[in-house]
Amino acid sequence: MTPFPREDYRALSRYLPDRRPVPVDLSDNTNLWGTHPDALQAIREAGPDHLARYPSLYADELRAAVSRRFGVPEEHVCTGCGSDDILDAAFRAAAGPGGLVRWADPTFSMLEPLCRMNGREPGPVGWGEALEDPAALLAGDPVVVYVCRPNNPTGHVAPRAWMNALLRLTRDRGADAPLVIVDEAYADFSGDSLVAEAPGLHRTLVVRTLSKAYGLAGLRAGWGAGPTEVIDEVEKARGPYKVGRLAGAAAVAAVDDVGGWVERTVAECQECRSALIEALEARGLEPLPSGANFVLVPVARAPTEKALALRERGVAVRPFPGERTADGAAKATPQPLPDALRVTVGPWPLMERFLGALDDLRAADPDAWAGAPRPVWLPGATP
Ligand code: PMP
Repeated sequence: MTPFPREDYRALSRYLPDRRPVPVDLSDNTNLWGTHPDALQAIREAGPDHLARYPSLYADELRAAVSRRFGVPEEHVCTGCGSDDILDAAFRAAAGPGGLVRWADPTFSMLEPLCRMNGREPGPVGWGEALEDPAALLAGDPVVVYVCRPNNPTGHVAPRAWMNALLRLTRDRGADAPLVIVDEAYADFSGDSLVAEAPGLHRTLVVRTLSKAYGLAGLRAGWGAGPTEVIDEVEKARGPYKVGRLAGAAAVAAVDDVGGWVERTVAECQECRSALIEALEARGLEPLPSGANFVLVPVARAPTEKALALRERGVAVRPFPGERTADGAAKATPQPLPDALRVTVGPWPLMERFLGALDDLRAADPDAWAGAPRPVWLPGATP
């Protein structure tokens, strides 16, 4: 009998967050100021060839645009169908089945699925332990080390000195080093990035997305920067034709950002983020400091029920059950979060809708909606 599916695949399920339509959706960290106007214009101007003909094999136009904007030579840039695609290809390129993948936990919820999809061994290390000594992420000779900076879902930015120490340890390992993936999906909102130095880093891939600050989540385009030895292997593992012609044309226009739309909306998002944190603190809650376009708010208990109650009032946020899974079982993660709600930052009128719904619920049942303390291991958000 041929087993189907693969044995190590059984623990994998579909990614199914609550995506039912809702008037104010603050649940998926997309750009709530809309999409890049130049990308939309590029799509309006597209002709039949954009659909009838294949795109360039490895999205050379997008690589050139990234090179223009970020000052990284094209041969140091790879692309993908969303940054998920690049992470996936990097996992495949880094090692064969069974290889250990380490990350500082909690982090992007796709890490464990990505391990399962690629037959890699998940090896989360608590953020507290990892921040104390980055060597914790190298324990057991991993093939991949993943760091999300700013981190999803906490929003914290691992200090630059800590990041540099991890990169030094990686370089010291020479030919035995893991591939270090620095996921900068939210770096536009923190202002601190490793992209400029990525070409010279040892076995490191810095990954960026167009789904957040650039407002192009529906398009599916992302890019990465690193030394050519890494870029070439990731592109091989990724395969050709992953950025469609239409997506490529729109992505190029957005990356060029001639009118400064990205800069303007990022600046506004940062202002709204500070105002939201202040408004939550004024209500006695303890939101985590954030370098991203979202804020994590610890709550006393039952985040899933709280998210549903907010949804009934027209506002979707993402619940993060801390030490328990959604069905109440104890989680096996090394450093669980407190129960928390993650709120995407958007234009202030949307934040007012959220705060209004929150105030209604808190007024009706103040005990149930009490806050909870920030985790002690969190560093400040400023690099
Ligand atoms: N990395 C992180 C940390 C994310 O939060 C996300 C999306 N939520 C991604 C990568 C994937 O983004 P995309 O595939 O849309 O580029």
